[in-house]
Amino acid sequence: MNFFKSLKTAHIRIQHQSTESTHCWLIVGFVLSLLLVPQLALAASADGPETQARAALLEQLRSDVRGMQHVLGRDHLSPAVEQALATVPRHEFVPPDQRRDAYKDIPLPIGYGQTISQPLIVGIMTELLNLQPGDKVLEIGTGSGYQAAILAMLTDQVYSIEIIPPLHRRSTETLQRLGYTQVHTKLGDGYNGWPDAAPFDAIIVTAAGDHIPPPLIAQLKPGGRMVLPVGSRYSAQQLVLVLKDDAGRVQSRALMPVHFVPLTGGH
Ligand code: SAM
Repeated sequence: MNFFKSLKTAHIRIQHQSTESTHCWLIVGFVLSLLLVPQLALAASADGPETQARAALLEQLRSDVRGMQHVLGRDHLSPAVEQALATVPRHEFVPPDQRRDAYKDIPLPIGYGQTISQPLIVGIMTELLNLQPGDKVLEIGTGSGYQAAILAMLTDQVYSIEIIPPLHRRSTETLQRLGYTQVHTKLGDGYNGWPDAAPFDAIIVTAAGDHIPPPLIAQLKPGGRMVLPVGSRYSAQQLVLVLKDDAGRVQSRALMPVHFVPLTGGH
């Protein structure tokens, strides 16, 4: 009898304990949810729709460059260039009415008859520059500022020249607002380069002229690289890679057909 009584008491104690522990777990769960909800909200905003759209665009670019061994010398972009493309918020560099298309692999109008380049071309040109941290790079044609921001992810010495005053003002403001403060911008004719900041390890020109500007060749360091479209508005343009060797000898090679807005100015 005593045996059954003590069994019953033990059962009641266990029931009591398990109810207590259930309460305890409920309280722990409630406190944890209070602590975690703001963190989860933050994580969701860091992983917002633009981040996902950039990741999807990068996947597409990866598959596009797989067939570009003849242009890049390999079938993939370097991790640093991929990281830059996955990080820079392209939607912040386009006018509000173009934002919904910011992560399509197409050029988009930015006003004044100009465009922000196609992401695939931005990736290819950036890759061809082979930038190392600390390199000094010059861009001709700031446009929206997007390419300059990509360059700023790879080195802290970026110089960029734009010839259209409102585009110069807007891109400078965008780059500052987004924290790309290491980009030096200037209003002017990029055909003449930036003699005060020369020489450069790398030069990228994002508008097409019918020849390679001699001042830019002169401002390239020995061992430096320049990438630019060459051709006129009406004829086929080629993306050209210019290499200056350590002895100052210059070689250029046409890599692929491209289509850019014209290099304007007084030359
Ligand atoms: N890199 C730009 C971007 O990321 O948005 C795209 C540039 S858009 C294809 C070419 C730009 O080159 C235009 O903004 C145009 O005004 C500029 N441009 C044309 N001729 C120029 C010159 N001689 N000097 C400086 N900029 C020039």
